[in-house]
Amino acid sequence: MRVKVLVATLGFVLGASFLSAQTRKALDIYVIDVEGGNATLFVTPTGESVLIDSGNGGAAAARDAGRIFDAVKDAGLTQIDHYITTHWHGDHFGGLEELATLVPIRAYYDHGDTVQPQPASTDFLQKVYPNLVAKAKRVTVKPGDRIALKGIDWRIITSAGQAIQSNLPGAGQRNPYCATFKAQDPDPTENAQSVGSHITFGKFRVVHPGDLTWNKEAELMCPVNRLGTADLLIVGHHGQSVSNSEVLVHALQPRVSIINNGTRKGGQPAAMQILLNSPGLEDVWQSHFSLLSGTEYTVPGMFIGNTYDDEPEALPKRAWTPPPQGQQAPPPPSHNGKAFWFKVSAQQDGTFTVTNTRNNFAKTYRAGS
Ligand SMILES: [Zn+2]
Repeated sequence: MRVKVLVATLGFVLGASFLSAQTRKALDIYVIDVEGGNATLFVTPTGESVLIDSGNGGAAAARDAGRIFDAVKDAGLTQIDHYITTHWHGDHFGGLEELATLVPIRAYYDHGDTVQPQPASTDFLQKVYPNLVAKAKRVTVKPGDRIALKGIDWRIITSAGQAIQSNLPGAGQRNPYCATFKAQDPDPTENAQSVGSHITFGKFRVVHPGDLTWNKEAELMCPVNRLGTADLLIVGHHGQSVSNSEVLVHALQPRVSIINNGTRKGGQPAAMQILLNSPGLEDVWQSHFSLLSGTEYTVPGMFIGNTYDDEPEALPKRAWTPPPQGQQAPPPPSHNGKAFWFKVSAQQDGTFTVTNTRNNFAKTYRAGS
């Protein structure tokens, strides 16, 4: 009896220490479903954390903050060390006030005040944000700035409409996609102000552009590719076609792209075509099945994190065209039940695994293959 107890105890101790030694080697990234908003949580090998954005506000704030908090708990965190607001749109900062009641946040980063005052963002910036940052610190970031992390090089590449002017190590080649780039209309909104990040862990490189729009992508990537290539692209702007130009996506040549889209936001055919025919691409993963993709422009179901609560027998083949502005659209399919994140686990040699927590489908992308 006593021997058995001793063996069981030893097994537990060994198991626990093996586990923590293993988890300490990886950079983990949670891409959290917030219904077409953004929330991406990075946990470094030494247990430091960076959260980019906090999902939707208003009636959805508790839901989205709760989904983020589930990931925070899964990662074993007791605080968020660094929190970045990419820009002042409600699907990016909306859950922040709620989230800050669930877990302490130690430092806030943003591009400065909004250039597009709207009641919700103005209210938040005047009445809520000052109280949050008073208990922590606020940093207004410029391109080229770093976020101090052990073993990770975290570089700000865009902020407040400006792009980094120097080349990242090994980058600076002419970008062949600039020659055929066609500008879209200028974007006066907060999207163009997005704080974009480039993250390096050993040989593993990630780009997270926020909601950066088409013309700003070209300012960042032309005439020379200042970033080089990437292993993982956390796709900009929910996979909408006012972002995701070839000058960014094709020049980065991501092995894997992950889109944080909603059932009716992102995944339009034009954007999916650019993402799916990107050179060197191995897979695209989507947080949601998007009606805007239909089955024609989407990825196999194994690579989709969430469908919706009342799943139909057959999914629509053709991409859905949303009604013109001002016209009544049918209510969006509900998804208030359990939401599933993608978890990326990256090693220093560049090998990384993406896991779909809905179906436990996982795929490993080996370094140098
Ligand atoms: Zn957005």
